[in-house]
Amino acid sequence: SAATARDAQRMQAMGQLTGGIAHDFNNLLAVILGNLELIRPKLDPGSPLLVRIDRAIWGARRGAALTQQLLAFARKQPLAPAPINVSALLPDMANLLRRTLGAHIEVRVVDAAGLWPAMADATQVESALLNLALNARDAMPEGGRLTIEAANKVLDADYAARHAEVTPGDYVMLAVSDTGCGMPPEVLARVFEPFFTTKEPGKGTGLGLAMVFGFVKQSGGHVKVYSEPGEGTTVRIYLPRAIAGLTAGALHPVAPAALPG
Ligand code: ADP
Repeated sequence: SAATARDAQRMQAMGQLTGGIAHDFNNLLAVILGNLELIRPKLDPGSPLLVRIDRAIWGARRGAALTQQLLAFARKQPLAPAPINVSALLPDMANLLRRTLGAHIEVRVVDAAGLWPAMADATQVESALLNLALNARDAMPEGGRLTIEAANKVLDADYAARHAEVTPGDYVMLAVSDTGCGMPPEVLARVFEPFFTTKEPGKGTGLGLAMVFGFVKQSGGHVKVYSEPGEGTTVRIYLPRAIAGLTAGALHPVAPAALPG
């Protein structure tokens, strides 16, 4: 596994830095966009400057989308963990992916019966799956198969002994596999690093797997990447099993002073 406790620390520091910069950039881009949109209707419909303005607007919008991603990575908003039924979320996810990834990629779901509820932020689970699926798409330009698998997993003391950062216990595993290009060891070793990307400028931010890593760690889970050049890649996410009767409310109890009576 490429992930270490040092990665987590570095990620936190980068997150704080990134959040501040992204926030300021977002404000500046809003100024640029607002003024461009004020100028645009003042131009003659036939003006050659319209094309220029539209390109500038496109660039500013793209910049805004990127800073949104950076802000999500720095995650100002706290997670909202609650018991979630992953089996219920997968069919919608698969349909979204079938529409998004294109006909050259086959999307399969392998769901175990009697899946435990997982304790996690459902929105973050979806965005993690989307991130992994987009990486899988980029790894399969000629097409291929994307498989999302869900299964109950017990990570025992043996497994924990081999992975320093793992707490033994019950987990719901979500695995995203592709039949794409895979990664050489030197890339695999760096995939969780924020801003590490092998993609062309404008195509990759290097934040996808850093976000997945940050979210899973914050959820008390575990993430592992397996990859073989020319064969494909599998990313496994382990989310803690939700314990019956323990709700999000029990995790964030209301202060006694705030209770009536
Ligand atoms: P980005 O996708 O923006 O580059 P990520 O953090 O998601 O950022 O990924 C970092 C790098 O890890 C990618 O640039 C790519 O080299 C490699 N990578 C991630 N997922 C895969 C995959 N499924 N197959 C092959 N390489 C991958």
